[in-house]
Amino acid sequence: MTAVSHRVSVAEWAAAADAVRGLAPGDEIQLICHVNPDGDALGSMLGFGLGLRRLGFTRVRATFPGQFEVPVPYQALPGLDMLVPAVEAYREARLILIFDVAAESRLGALAPLAVEGFSVVLDHHASNTRFGRINLVDARAAATSVVASSLLDRLGVPLDAEIAECLYVALATDTGSFKFDLTTPAVHELAARLIATGISPADISRRIFDTRPFGAMKLAGEVLGRAQLDRTAAGGRGMVWTYATLSDLERYEQRPYVLDTLIDPIRSVAEADVAVVVKETGPSEWAVSLRSKGAVDVSAVAVALGGGGHRLAAGFTGHGTPEEIVKAVRDLLDANLT
Ligand code: AMP
Ligand code: MN
Ligand code: MN
Repeated sequence: MTAVSHRVSVAEWAAAADAVRGLAPGDEIQLICHVNPDGDALGSMLGFGLGLRRLGFTRVRATFPGQFEVPVPYQALPGLDMLVPAVEAYREARLILIFDVAAESRLGALAPLAVEGFSVVLDHHASNTRFGRINLVDARAAATSVVASSLLDRLGVPLDAEIAECLYVALATDTGSFKFDLTTPAVHELAARLIATGISPADISRRIFDTRPFGAMKLAGEVLGRAQLDRTAAGGRGMVWTYATLSDLERYEQRPYVLDTLIDPIRSVAEADVAVVVKETGPSEWAVSLRSKGAVDVSAVAVALGGGGHRLAAGFTGHGTPEEIVKAVRDLLDANLT
């Protein structure tokens, strides 16, 4: 693969805009985001899809691979009527737009479609493999929605409240509510433009971040309660980790996505630079979330274990027991101190 690009070139922006402008209103357009979609994946995809509709395109579908389940907090997003199960994706779309996907492996069964068709990748992962025909990959963008809003601007789509709500959810989730390191003046300028359309950040934040079922809260208590602190990991900078099983989810009658926010209290531990949450997804299969406060490049660890992500937030699919997975992470940490 070619070297990672941190910024999108003028030629790439122009090629992407031309790819959209060259379409007829009735042409099929397929949008795809990553498996187990988060706020950025869904928000940037649906916000962009609404923008395409505003341009007069009538055949726009959105989908993602894997289990077809939208986390409850995102079930109120505008544009959800565009969403179809992967089997209903346009097989011969004139244009395929791919959101928040660092590598083909995150596209599951949709990977062949995405690679064989004419695809534009919109993303912000440093580990992006540039698998599209056109790659709008900006590793300094705080969210894929930053890239999506730039392309909408270039296409002359005015922001309205529906588009803005999608893009705001994406921006707020990937910046940790405007707390993370890529929260630049430009991020706040984009947020200001989005809020100016009339959306309510308070309502959106309550719905997305501050609402959960009682069972999810109790489950969090149990998973946090079993966390372990390994002070000697990462050259003495420390690692804190925990795990959650499918039987934990069953006991509290919760869906897997409720585990995705548990990395936040885990990574708040003062004695550890690195935080790890290992979440069972199937027989001997686990989704692993990694976070660093800065001493370690966890994306390098994730890539070494078959995953990807950003320097301070990354993930991979693990196999074996949680202890075995955490040992593999620990073995790689010392090699990736920054
Ligand atoms: P998460 O811990 O799921 O919030 O993911 C943190 C970051 O790592 C996100 O940017 C994800 O796109 C990326 N990531 C998580 N899991 C994987 C994976 N299996 N393969 C590639 N990237 C991943
Ligand atoms: Mn994502
Ligand atoms: Mn993202």
